[in-house]
Amino acid sequence: MKTNNLIRIYLAILSYLLAAIFLLLLCSDALAPLDRKKPATMPAQAESTAVSQTEIKRVVLDAGHGGIDSGAQSATGVLEKDLNLQIATKTAQFLSLFRIEVIQTRDSDELPQAGDKPELSVKQSEMLARERIANAAKADLFLSVHMNSYPAAECRGAQVFFTEQNPQNEVFASFLQHSIASCLQQENSRTIKSTSQIYLLNRLSMPSALIECGFLSTPDELESLCDEDYQNKFAFVLASSIAAYLYQP
Ligand SMILES: [Zn+2]
Repeated sequence: MKTNNLIRIYLAILSYLLAAIFLLLLCSDALAPLDRKKPATMPAQAESTAVSQTEIKRVVLDAGHGGIDSGAQSATGVLEKDLNLQIATKTAQFLSLFRIEVIQTRDSDELPQAGDKPELSVKQSEMLARERIANAAKADLFLSVHMNSYPAAECRGAQVFFTEQNPQNEVFASFLQHSIASCLQQENSRTIKSTSQIYLLNRLSMPSALIECGFLSTPDELESLCDEDYQNKFAFVLASSIAAYLYQP
């Protein structure tokens, strides 16, 4: 490899690390009011939290759909499953900068399936497989990555969904939504949305959320979502937001 290329790589890594520090400061500042939403038991856990910060954190990234299940599809033929995997994989790479271990429910164009349960439907088997991967990982956090689609052409912007069986889900969802609006989509006025309809999240033992990264049905947003530079920025905001949530004081 040429020296110039090495220097460029080092400079890129350095700029990402500096940006990470900036984003962590920004997020911790901007999200300070969210601390009030923590359960009443949090202060009593302060000492153990200080110890656990030296431990490696673990995150499950779940690229939605895959294989025979393409998810949403743009008018131009872009498949949601492909963008989900691209964003999830880039996010996993950035998380390694924060010393965060990542388990992906899929890292290729395959639909996860529970091989020992042939009696289940494809969908049921998929949900069980993703649930098993997440719960077996004993992860600190779970994020499912999806793309949105809606017939009205002007729908745009990322939105984070959460379920209420774990009070930390709303806190994590707020971290994500706020970081995206602050750092990447200043025009995004969407708010986090509580739902009981996400079967997978209801069955997880760790804090979790699902993000719809943007609308495949809106041409200029689709163009952004397919752009590698935009994907890197989006993934970096997700990774830094996850790190900020996991390492919050
Ligand atoms: Zn989806």
